[in-house]
Amino acid sequence: MNVLMVYAHPSPTSYNAALKNAAVEALVERGVSAKVSDLYGMNFNPVAQLSDTVVPKNLEEVPEDLRIEREKVSWADFIIFQFPMWWTSSPAILKGWFDRVFAAGFAYGPGLYNHGNLKGKKAMLSFTTGGRHLGSYGPNGLKGKMDERLFNFQHEILYFSGMEVIEPFIVPSGVSEDERKEFLVQVKERMRVLEKLPTLKFHPLEDYEGGQLKESVVL
Ligand SMILES: Cc1cc2nc3c(=O)[nH]c(=O)nc-3n(C[C@H](O)[C@H](O)[C@H](O)COP(=O)(O)OP(=O)(O)OC[C@H]3O[C@@H](n4cnc5c(N)ncnc54)[C@H](O)[C@@H]3O)c2cc1C
Repeated sequence: MNVLMVYAHPSPTSYNAALKNAAVEALVERGVSAKVSDLYGMNFNPVAQLSDTVVPKNLEEVPEDLRIEREKVSWADFIIFQFPMWWTSSPAILKGWFDRVFAAGFAYGPGLYNHGNLKGKKAMLSFTTGGRHLGSYGPNGLKGKMDERLFNFQHEILYFSGMEVIEPFIVPSGVSEDERKEFLVQVKERMRVLEKLPTLKFHPLEDYEGGQLKESVVL
C-alpha cells in the first residue's frame, strides 16, 4: 500500500507536526511506502490560475509543481490530510492545493462522485480543533454539526473525485498534555489498521435525479 500524507501546518514543532510524524513513523514501521507533501515546507503556491484548474491537452504545459503533486496522488492508494482546523475549515494552503492539483481531467471529469477519476483510492481527514472537547460540534452545538462542517471536504472534494472517505480522526488540541500524548498513540494505532477503517456512506450519483435524492431512496 502506498500512502500520501498531505500536511498543512506552518510550524515543524506544532502538535500537528507531532501527529504527522507519529503517523508516518507507524506506517514505515509496518512496511508501508509513505510520502509527505509538506505544503508550508515546500512553499507550495496555493493561488490557482484558471490554467491550473484544467489539465491541458499538451501535458508539457503542466507546471512542474502540479506535475509532481499529481504524480504523488496517482501513486497513492490512500491519502491522509493532516491540518489544524482554521475557521471551521483548513488552512488556505490546503484549499489551494485542491484548487490547483485536483484539476478537471485529473481528479474528476467526465466522471464525478462514484465515477470520479480517483476511484479505487481512499482518503481520510486527520485534524485538530481548539478547545478541550468537540461538544460545540455535536447535536445543538454552537458551531453546527461536525459532519456538516466537513461536507465540503469529504463529500464535495474527496468523494466528488471518486475516493472512498474514511471516518475522520479529530483531536481537540486543548486537552491535557497526557491526553495529547495518548492521541499520538491513537493515531499510530489507526495507521496500523488503515485499510480496515470504516468508510463514510454516501449515495451514488444514480440515487439522484435533477440534483435531488430520488424519493424512493433512503440512506
Ligand atoms: C486562524 C485560526 C483559525 C482557527 N479556527 C478554529 C475553528 O474554526 N475551530 C476550532 O475549533 N479551532 C480553531 N482554531 C484553533 C486551532 O484549531 C488550534 O489552534 C489548532 O488545532 C492547534 O493545533 P496546532 O498543531 O497548531 O497546536 P500547537 O499550538 O502547536 O499545540 C497545541 C498544544 O499541544 C502542545 N504540544 C505540541 N507538541 C506536542 C506533543 N508532541 N505532545 C503533546 N503536546 C504537544 C503545545 O505545547 C500546545 O500546548 C483556529 C486557529 C487559528 C490560528
